[in-house]
Amino acid sequence: MEMFKMLGRHHHEQLVFCSEPEIGLKAIIAIHDTTLGPSLGGCRFYDYPSEAAAMKDVLRLARGMTYKASIAGLNLGGGKSVIIGDPNKLKNEHLFRAFGRFVEGLGGRYITAEDMNTTVRDMEWVRMETRFVTGISKALGGSGDPSPVTAFGTFMGIKAALKWKHDSEDLSGVKVGVQGVGHVGYYLCKRLHKAGAELFVTDINQLALDQVVEEFDAVQLTNGAMYGYDLDIFAPCAMGAILDDETIPQLKARIVAGAANNQLAVSKKHGGDLKQRGILYAPDYAINAGGLINVSNELEGYNQERALQLAEVIYDKLMEIFQLSDAQDIPTNFASDQLAEDRIRRAAQIKTFYTAPTAGVIRRRT
Ligand code: NAD
Repeated sequence: MEMFKMLGRHHHEQLVFCSEPEIGLKAIIAIHDTTLGPSLGGCRFYDYPSEAAAMKDVLRLARGMTYKASIAGLNLGGGKSVIIGDPNKLKNEHLFRAFGRFVEGLGGRYITAEDMNTTVRDMEWVRMETRFVTGISKALGGSGDPSPVTAFGTFMGIKAALKWKHDSEDLSGVKVGVQGVGHVGYYLCKRLHKAGAELFVTDINQLALDQVVEEFDAVQLTNGAMYGYDLDIFAPCAMGAILDDETIPQLKARIVAGAANNQLAVSKKHGGDLKQRGILYAPDYAINAGGLINVSNELEGYNQERALQLAEVIYDKLMEIFQLSDAQDIPTNFASDQLAEDRIRRAAQIKTFYTAPTAGVIRRRT
């Protein structure tokens, strides 16, 4: 494997392999770009089919975090980590503490958090060894569940998309389809219902569905029916890669704006396909940046009200993205990438010293 070629392709700064065979730790930390500040991104625990697959994933995810932090206006860079193996078999305190020591060894260049298959409890084990961790419980001064702030940011993004498309933010009577009513989807439905939207929901978890149907007068749809349903807005809040050659032609909604990560199956192609169909797409990493904004607020001493206030920036960012997409006649996901890259380029050019709120300001409590 040509490592440096791989790092060079998307300008990754650093790749760290962490190994402690006695406790089964095999982890990789990827730091993509620290121009704007220390890299921050979650730690994913996954039984990858190969080490190469884990490496590919961590590089891709770290790069995504650079764009998300930049578009959200945060003074943070992009990083991510993966622990390789079956979480059900391997998870324990020793393993996460060992991982924490590797994070500590990077001296703050990488700050970790929860991600797929890692929890608040796991991060608290990590925290026994390093200050450079976020996503810890409220009881320990952390930010707890990021979903309410992610949902709020998504709600602001939906309002921006409505304003851009129809010159009105009024959600009353607007038909919104929410795919996935888990953590984020539930809080999003709550806000949309309060704003007067008509809700159409789908999920594979019937209990979660029953709750939103009952609490928010939502109409239950099958997953397949959601795409072709007569909606104004489609809000994907479950899995990624759901916008593809099969689903895009079915869409009746004129706006796609939801919290799910990596919604476009092939971003280069499907962003363009949505544009061609006249569907306004709110780029996923921009509209769902509330989660990162929330967790980054932990570095300054967490305050949910402030995190919510900061997440309001998503409205303006999306407006900027829509304007650029329009002015240059490019898909919104390209416009978003361009804005994120411009901010990093400017920071590098003017050599501004970004005094990022590094994890160093978190007092060690153990
Ligand atoms: P979650 O696991 O709590 O909820 C996801 C929901 O989707 C679940 O209720 C699940 O049953 C449902 N689901 C799974 N597969 C489905 C399918 N095939 N069809 C319909 N529904 C399905 O996750 P979450 O924290 O609410 O996150 C939702 C999405 O938003 C994810 O893509 C996540 O990466 C992204 N995201 C979340 C946050 C956050 O703060 N939680 C931040 C940024 C991005």
